[in-house]
Amino acid sequence: MSKLPNITTSIFSVMSQLANEHGAINLSQGFPNFPEDERLLQISERIIRENIHQYTPMAGLPSLLEKIANQTLKQYGRKVNTATEMLITAGATQGVFTAINTFVNHGDEVLILDPSYDSYEPSVLVAGGKPVRVSLNDDYTPNFNRIESAISNKTKMIVINNPHNPTGRIWTESDFEALETILEKHPQILILGDEVYEYITFSQPHISFNTRPKLVERTIIASSFGKSLHVTGWKVGYLIATENLMFEMKKVHQFLVFSVNSFSQHAISEYLDVVDFSEVSKMYQRKRDLFQNLIKDSRFELMPCDGTYFQVVNYNQISSKNDVDFAKELIVNHGVASIPISVFYNDATDRHMLRFCFAKTDETLIAAAEKLNQI
Ligand code: PMP
Ligand code: GLN
Repeated sequence: MSKLPNITTSIFSVMSQLANEHGAINLSQGFPNFPEDERLLQISERIIRENIHQYTPMAGLPSLLEKIANQTLKQYGRKVNTATEMLITAGATQGVFTAINTFVNHGDEVLILDPSYDSYEPSVLVAGGKPVRVSLNDDYTPNFNRIESAISNKTKMIVINNPHNPTGRIWTESDFEALETILEKHPQILILGDEVYEYITFSQPHISFNTRPKLVERTIIASSFGKSLHVTGWKVGYLIATENLMFEMKKVHQFLVFSVNSFSQHAISEYLDVVDFSEVSKMYQRKRDLFQNLIKDSRFELMPCDGTYFQVVNYNQISSKNDVDFAKELIVNHGVASIPISVFYNDATDRHMLRFCFAKTDETLIAAAEKLNQI
């Protein structure tokens, strides 16, 4: 009967709840705990009193679509048609779900790279598709031999999340070239590019599917203002895709949500006139460096972090427990919440890795590091 018989409560809810119960510092679920930009607060306070409380057009507030198109042109040099190639979604979660449920039919295979964000597999299963999990290399870079071998004549889509949650790795030029070479032979395969952390990269600027002429026609790009503007709870994201793909996705979208909440769209639209996205990476790079410095002498081993607001660590020197049990112990005995990485694998592969979210005030990071350094 169940469409999702093996899916349980999301690890983000489980860990955040446990952190609350034990009064632990919550570096598990990814959300900022620092105050919002005063300019956005002022815009929001004024806008809530304006007459903006009814439905926006189905595909999104026209001024917001216009500003995203301008930003896409400025950032990536891609000219997007606001009427036919864009859709405002209720966060990237709904964007991902809509894209998958529009194109994946019963029995279609979807390649998902492990470890992967937790919403892809259930979205494929609800569509009646078959998730095919392909492991990344041990250093979390993509393994193109494995990707190529996993492709069959039933493969409909590959999901690529870059910058990558949970590992913080990002794709390089040569990664894109390798993907282009493989997909040239498989014109039927669509790409779902989850780029929600597009404005949070450190080692190199983000390479977007928007800038890949060989792939862009078959790619649906999902992004989210939750990450770029630090408002995860507003749940405003968007999809960009060529007209033929977008036309079909709009049909599904209109019966899933019809339109996304008007207040946030108005506020974000106005805020986009003043916000500088280049500040986002700078701010998070400083936080990453702070957190890494604070725990560099601890018994946790830091993995590379090129983007996102997640730092992965190995705890081999501390415990041989599995990562779920160790993450719980860390909350209960040491007062710091994290996310165990094994939950992002299909086979619960346990490499003794935890993910810490550093989208936190400096005080929170310092307090957490103090505890982690004592272990
Ligand atoms: N994709 C990835 C990789 C994410 O990390 C998140 C948020 N945690 C989402 C999608 C969902 O974004 P939203 O909160 O905008 O739905
Ligand atoms: N994307 C966030 C994370 O990775 C959590 C989103 C959620 O709670 N569903 O932590």
